[in-house]
Amino acid sequence: MSTAVEVTSAISGVRHSLLVSGAWREATGGRTFTVEDPATGEGLCAVADASPEDAIAALDAASSVQLSWARTAPRERAEILRRAHQLLLARIDHLAMLITLEMGKSLLESRREVSYAADYFGWFSEEAVRIAGEWKVNGTGDGRIVTMRQPVGPCLLITPWNVPLALPARKVAPAIAAGCTMVLKPASQTPLCALALAEVLAEAGLPDGVINVIPTSTSGPTTKPLFDDPRLRKVSFTGSTAVGKILLGNAAANILRVSMELGGNAPFIVCADADVDAAVRGAVTAKMRNLGEACVAANRFLVHDDVAEEFTTELAARLGSMVVGSGLDPATDVGPLIDTAARDHVAALVDDAVDVGARLVVGGAATDGPGHFYPPTVLADVPRSARLWHEEIFGPVAPIATFTDDEEMVRTANDTQFGLVSYLFTRDVGRAVWLSERLESGMVGLNRGFVSDAGAPFGGVKHSGLGREGGSVGIDEYLEIKYVALDVPPG
Ligand code: NAD
Repeated sequence: MSTAVEVTSAISGVRHSLLVSGAWREATGGRTFTVEDPATGEGLCAVADASPEDAIAALDAASSVQLSWARTAPRERAEILRRAHQLLLARIDHLAMLITLEMGKSLLESRREVSYAADYFGWFSEEAVRIAGEWKVNGTGDGRIVTMRQPVGPCLLITPWNVPLALPARKVAPAIAAGCTMVLKPASQTPLCALALAEVLAEAGLPDGVINVIPTSTSGPTTKPLFDDPRLRKVSFTGSTAVGKILLGNAAANILRVSMELGGNAPFIVCADADVDAAVRGAVTAKMRNLGEACVAANRFLVHDDVAEEFTTELAARLGSMVVGSGLDPATDVGPLIDTAARDHVAALVDDAVDVGARLVVGGAATDGPGHFYPPTVLADVPRSARLWHEEIFGPVAPIATFTDDEEMVRTANDTQFGLVSYLFTRDVGRAVWLSERLESGMVGLNRGFVSDAGAPFGGVKHSGLGREGGSVGIDEYLEIKYVALDVPPG
């Protein structure tokens, strides 16, 4: 278990102020807000609380260097990203500690997040030098069609608390690669990782003003003036669908480019021909990674009647043996949820499911005492009327229902407004293909409980969002295509 001295030194090893135009400074009026440790409910530190004026100052900074930054050599941007990749990995211990302290997950999971964040800098350092256009003869032969891809311009990046380092990384790295400047607004629960990332980027050689960071306790009022300012050209948001809709409305005023990574309600499908051991291992990952506080967390388990008992018993044994506790304790598998509201929400969903007839197999009772702990929980025979079948659980709860017919199962899987990811376990190649094609989601985990990869296009359909992050298309979110029509008279 980390000592109090280690905790204090991790917290004092990161800035607690705003970053505007390369300067670390207090918020207007010296306002601050407190960042809490979800394992104890106690305050960790005070962080500068940006006001709308601070947000405009951040946009001033981003706009003033947009042109010069867009003109930097792609190799120069690539080298900054490559150095950031190396620095993140070199600081893995400190960054993992910050993630665990402000977000709660175990140090092991936090270390994985640091590597995942670093991957985006590695990936986009390679993409920065591959921004291409095209050249072609027009249909009538008397002209040429030439396209170029140019940076969109200053971006507002808004990120949630559940993956506090890698989600900023997933936006910041492609924006840098494309030549965009940015204002980053991290979640108020977890600003420290974003501030630490900005320090890494400064050390990697990113010029002043390219990234500006504005933690705030008043996200709506503080960011709204940016949407109304014609200098802002794009918003990239990761968070809930409810807030995403508000921001889409805000973005309409200035017809901003938008990327929206929103909520999920992932089905986890186990067919009768599945390798049940592999499905259980996949289920543990898809459900328990990030304590279930993930947009890609398996939210509804649909298991064929023939294998349901075996799957349920095994999953309950695996989840029931997980150790719940502070993420700083090396023995811990499952840390605390982010806050009391999150724990109460999970508890209410479980109670509702039991009330409408679900069978509690393991877990199911919130722990007393400080911190926001909830034990891994498995529910069987969950009726489709249960609230958790339709709402994002965002906690360590696995609701299981059975099916006998593939058509009925696909209809149930798609019967949600969300469409981020689906998980599918089957050994039949034909079934794997047609089900992957029929499932209404941006991603499918086929015999695998984990889809996140810097080299893959991450994103959803329906109410799960717009656009893709990562992969070879991730940089496109930060580029505009310009077409030049060349007149070429016959020679
Ligand atoms: P949230 O929507 O409450 O907040 C996300 C961010 O938006 C935070 O920084 C918050 O401060 C800010 N915000 C809230 N209201 C705002 C407003 N009016 N104007 C501007 N900013 C505002 O979400 P959360 O609780 O932080 O995160 C959990 C949600 O994020 C879940 O729904 C989860 O599925 C989703 N998520 C999606 C992905 C994805 O890639 N699709 C990844 C992680 C999390």
